[in-house]
Amino acid sequence: MIQRKSKDMSRNRQGNTRHSTLHLAYSFSCNLACGHCIFRCGPDVRGTMGIGRARAFIDQAGRAGIRRIVFTGGEPFLHPRALRTLIEHASGVGIESALITNAAWATSRSRTKGYLAHLQSIGLRSMTVSTDRYHLLFVPLERVRGALRAAMELGLDGGVKISRLAHDPVAEGLCRSLRSKAARVFVQEIVPLGRAASLRAAQRLRPATSFTGAGGLAPPILLPSGDLLSCCNLPARDVRSTDYPFVLGNLEKTSLRTLLARRVRDPLLTTLRTRGPGVLFALLAQREPAFRRWGRSLYQSGCDLCFNLFCKPLDKRMLYDTLDRLNRHDRFIPGEFS
Ligand code: SF4
Repeated sequence: MIQRKSKDMSRNRQGNTRHSTLHLAYSFSCNLACGHCIFRCGPDVRGTMGIGRARAFIDQAGRAGIRRIVFTGGEPFLHPRALRTLIEHASGVGIESALITNAAWATSRSRTKGYLAHLQSIGLRSMTVSTDRYHLLFVPLERVRGALRAAMELGLDGGVKISRLAHDPVAEGLCRSLRSKAARVFVQEIVPLGRAASLRAAQRLRPATSFTGAGGLAPPILLPSGDLLSCCNLPARDVRSTDYPFVLGNLEKTSLRTLLARRVRDPLLTTLRTRGPGVLFALLAQREPAFRRWGRSLYQSGCDLCFNLFCKPLDKRMLYDTLDRLNRHDRFIPGEFS
């Protein structure tokens, strides 16, 4: 099964949106340094959230109604004690855990299964293994297969995420080879941001206005600093702490519940979520000359467009005024731009 990007919002009976998933990057350190890593993780990256702070953040997540935490990074298995402690802690406040890993640790069948079985017993419900032409330079496919096999034997939800270039026979081969070994196969085109910026020429680039239709915004991500980003697909280490609304605030200063409410109320994020970056851009470009010059630029995807547009110096007041006018006149008609 090819899985599409999951939505992080669900609706309650009153029709209000609520958040259910939070990505948590305990650290951006990684045993690998993949050429396509949008977070620019690697062995030289230092610093962690710290177990005590992470526990407190998870307590906040429980109070804010989060039901699922995805441990990401960086490589979560580089911090085994923290990973065990935080999965167990999340479980204690009613939150199920998932993780994303490169599977370099899956060196032997018994060790892999034993470790996953323990994590499952304390609250892990899902594991996604990342593999592609860049991961394969460091992690043999056999380890990916071993981790997925162990997950399947344990009844753990095991998925694989394959990042691909525009023309990528390696990714196609991985899809064929892993389809029967994983409950979920998620294929994603590499976004030329972060360390992957150098791969821009290898990607299929399209005009800004061609990304119409699908809504944007993946689940929010909590960084080791305590900053909360509105979307986990942003190149987290390249976003400045002043880049509101991509940085919603810091959990040391403002509660997660308040920051998540901000994420729902913000007109820019609402439009990104419901209409997608291409439609939002097309709307803005129709009405404000300042946006038109961006229309001639080429982007790989909505995420690429989104980051390049809204994290560059831009008159945010003009942006919000334009959105306000558009909202008041109820002009969000997607068919208008296709
Ligand atoms: S893509 Fe994943 S495995 Fe590769 S450097 Fe980044 S975090 Fe590490």
